[in-house]
Amino acid sequence: MSKLDFYVVLGVERNASEAEIKKAFKRLAMKYHPDRNPDDAEAEVKFREAREAYDVLSDPQKRAAYDQFGHAGVEGAMGGGGGGPGGASFSDIFGDVFGDIFGGGGGRGGGHRAQRGADLRYHLELSLEEAVRGTTVKIRVPTSVPCTVCNGTGAKKGTSPVTCPTCGGVGQVRMQQGFFSLQQTCPACHGSGQIIKEPCPACHGQGRVEEEKTLSVKVPAGVDNGDRIRLSGEGEAGERGAPPGDLYVQISVKEHPIFTRDENNLYCEVPISFVTAALGGELDVPTLDGRVKLKIPAETQSGKLFKLRGKGVKSVRGGPVGDLICRVIIETPVNLNSKQKELLREFEASTSAGNTHRPKEHSWLDGVKKFIDDIKSKSH
Ligand SMILES: [Zn+2]
Ligand SMILES: [Zn+2]
Repeated sequence: MSKLDFYVVLGVERNASEAEIKKAFKRLAMKYHPDRNPDDAEAEVKFREAREAYDVLSDPQKRAAYDQFGHAGVEGAMGGGGGGPGGASFSDIFGDVFGDIFGGGGGRGGGHRAQRGADLRYHLELSLEEAVRGTTVKIRVPTSVPCTVCNGTGAKKGTSPVTCPTCGGVGQVRMQQGFFSLQQTCPACHGSGQIIKEPCPACHGQGRVEEEKTLSVKVPAGVDNGDRIRLSGEGEAGERGAPPGDLYVQISVKEHPIFTRDENNLYCEVPISFVTAALGGELDVPTLDGRVKLKIPAETQSGKLFKLRGKGVKSVRGGPVGDLICRVIIETPVNLNSKQKELLREFEASTSAGNTHRPKEHSWLDGVKKFIDDIKSKSH
């Protein structure tokens, strides 16, 4: 198996956007697709390499693994060896990429279609409070918007696009390849069915221009890491008036200094003195809606969990509100002066006799003693 750099294979920069990667792959796939290059072993290899590179670089997780660890990072993740051409049906695998080229799966075919705008992804980092309560945030997204000079047509002001003479405006042409009759995008108009004689100088005939757009995103209460919000039609503008893509806002939640979240429950650690643990007491513990009292019973051991019902999170997917679970940690006193040390020694002496005050320690010591004795008796 070839081990060419995937970015080199696709001919894109390492920081290429998803749209650029998709575009690069489309270009290579159109060129090297086996249906177009029958019995051409070199094209077959090139096609397979491009497909492998695209499979990894088009998937944000695989791409991240590849960026960090190279080929080793994605080897295990490559779906079952994938087989060369002749394996799974071509349009099955790349239905989304090729839908607009091959008119795959019906519905989308039929020319007159300039390319739909690419979907965009925006990474939104929220605090735990924002994620739990919901919020509205303004985001700025670098994207492309319809060109206002030509109203998105791509034709110079005062002119208009003309019907493509090659395909008669259909956007597709049929080509005979051996036994196959292949329908493909018209090379003259790239599928739009129209030719622009004088391109709009503002957008170079694209019908869209690069721009940063400010959007207000309403984040519903209860979202969590990995949730996605889809803003329909807020992706890149399409070419020459074609429909725009969608914008996916990917949520990640910042670490909180006090709480960690697991599904609908919140967890926090509460340090208490060993005196409070022994005698019992009442603590103020934080919740997302303010402080509440937590009763610590006498003889509480370190690590004990206390559940505050309904003080967790209500998931964006509904269901009951989770709980806040407090884990009590007994803090060993530090920076003691000699008087305090003396008191503790006295205290220690008063609790060491018998096994009434420290039953766990005593049963543990008994267990250790038995274990050592067993070893000794076996070695004799
Ligand atoms: Zn324009
Ligand atoms: Zn045409």
